[in-house]
Amino acid sequence: MPPLDDLLASGFFGEIDPPQRLLMGPGPVNAHPRVLRAMSADLLGQFDPEMTGYMNQVMALYRPIFGTQNPWTMLIDGTARAGIEAALVSLVAPGDTVLVVNFGRFGLLLTEILGRIGARIETVEAPWGEVVPMDAIAAAIERVQPSVVATIHGDTSTTMAQPLDGLGALCAAAGALLYVDATATIGGMELAADRWGADIVTGGLQKCLGGPSGSAPITISDPAAALIQGRKHVEAGIRRDDISDGAGPRIGSNYFDLAMIMDYWSDKRLNHHTEATSMLYAARECARIMLGEGLEARYARHEAAGRAMTAGLRAMGLTIFGDDAHRMTNVTGVFIPQGVDGERVRTMMRNAFEIEIGTAFGPLQGRIWRIGAMGYNAMQHKVLITLGALEACLRQEGFALPAGEAVRVAMEAWDA
Ligand SMILES: *Cc1c(COP(=O)(O)O)cnc(C)c1O
Repeated sequence: MPPLDDLLASGFFGEIDPPQRLLMGPGPVNAHPRVLRAMSADLLGQFDPEMTGYMNQVMALYRPIFGTQNPWTMLIDGTARAGIEAALVSLVAPGDTVLVVNFGRFGLLLTEILGRIGARIETVEAPWGEVVPMDAIAAAIERVQPSVVATIHGDTSTTMAQPLDGLGALCAAAGALLYVDATATIGGMELAADRWGADIVTGGLQKCLGGPSGSAPITISDPAAALIQGRKHVEAGIRRDDISDGAGPRIGSNYFDLAMIMDYWSDKRLNHHTEATSMLYAARECARIMLGEGLEARYARHEAAGRAMTAGLRAMGLTIFGDDAHRMTNVTGVFIPQGVDGERVRTMMRNAFEIEIGTAFGPLQGRIWRIGAMGYNAMQHKVLITLGALEACLRQEGFALPAGEAVRVAMEAWDA
């Protein structure tokens, strides 16, 4: 690379002006323009009454989105993984037994984080493309007697959505708390933290909520909050006098210590981090847009998009990946047909049409594409444009398919 001064003089570092790509992968997706506008609003001090007022509004706005009455519903600053890590490091002490319901890459991520915490990890698994049957989870809970059960709701790596009704009751009967990573479904498929009996559910903005990555909404049940607040924590060598002594081991992270973050979001407003103001504006606008649309309408729109995408892909003669009965509505896995170079098609989609579709990980790498329709992109015209472009690219690659069928069938399926 030439010297920095030369690059600066030549105007190499121009103003940010990214191409207008249509992001139809498994996330991130294009943010709603209203969210981008909210993010450009002026900043406030972190204890300004206007700012703490916005924080309280965010708590209220995210309760219906999580399907909960939990008072402790707030944001963790960081991407969705920050929410996952805050939940696990705060709930789980070294040596605790945790049962991970594992059916894809994000189940593996849970085990990776739990390993660092020093938990005793047990898993109950399903092959990629399937979900774990509830009776298998029940048997595993019985066998390993976990203190926490951790699962993914929708795992974008496999496009499967794990049914969660009844799981909380199984956990409660066994004295375990339930953690759910709902990053890929929040805003697109129904979340029902209270009905599921989930103790902590976390998400992110960059999928069906139609925002940028960088904020992780979280909800915490009363029993989980009591456990977390009972654990000792120490800041700057001074034991906080509102925390009882002699409780469980202290939480092994300062930034992700939920007890401290709760103190910051409570009326006490104890200083922890500096709330990421622009991200809070974004999260607030994502929620306002969602509740303005209505939860039912929002979920129906994602369902229509998934239905149309799936029907259109099938009309091209392609095969859809995974168990039909447990598919996420907002991302579809489709096999790359024989003789077609999957990466060449993705490059052509990007170069000729400014459309991004997703590749895949692990055992599915090179075998499927993942095509999403989430949040601001779960719209009929974006699904149809994507299908039309994919058809053109496949024809360029010499794949024979019935011309125009995908878009026609998808239009019908949208309204079905
Ligand atoms: C996309 C996704 C994440 C992403 O986490 P980031 O830290 O925001 O990249 C986590 N969990 C699941 C299930 C996801 O689909």
